Amino acid sequence: MHDDISEVLFSADAIAGAVERIGAKVAEDYADRRLLVVGILSGCFPFVADLARAINVHVEVDFMAVSSYGGGTKSSGVVRTLKDLNTSIDGREVLLVEDIIDTGLTLHYIIENLRTRNPASLEVCTLLDKAEARAKKIDIKYSGFECPNAFVVGYGLDYDGLYRNLPYIGVLKPEVYA
Ligand code: IMP
Repeated sequence: MHDDISEVLFSADAIAGAVERIGAKVAEDYADRRLLVVGILSGCFPFVADLARAINVHVEVDFMAVSSYGGGTKSSGVVRTLKDLNTSIDGREVLLVEDIIDTGLTLHYIIENLRTRNPASLEVCTLLDKAEARAKKIDIKYSGFECPNAFVVGYGLDYDGLYRNLPYIGVLKPEVYA
């Protein structure tokens, strides 16, 4: 598995540091509000698990799963909801949590969808921001790292369902998906 990685971009320690930093800021910003963290499955699972424990005030956690048509390593922007929220977000303070924002097409669709449900607030947190690849403008309130425009895996991020269990985030060798 490790042999398929050409370069480690963010070590487990660096990720833990970013998670602590974001968690402390979220706790400060939402100290007197009841926050609902919404993770976008599947890539968010380690990030949400670690981030929720780094937020030292009450939070609720829910998940959505979407699939982007097209497959491969590129987003199509045509999104299908595979699993909706369990919770109503009417009047709620919602923080959407993503592993990576690449073109922004997937998150744009999700935000438009969730806005129709009248949340009191809707903010975005991402571990990785691949700003260079952005096609839709997304207002990101909390971001872990700027990510270069390469295909990365690990810490929840997959290629073809694999590599999510790498403890770090690295660049996948192009010959793996060529
Ligand atoms: P977007 O719609 O292009 O912003 O892509 C959103 C989704 O595509 C992310 O939530 C990831 O699941 C996936 N994705 C985008 N870039 C990468 C990457 O470099 N590695 C793994 N998954 C990625």
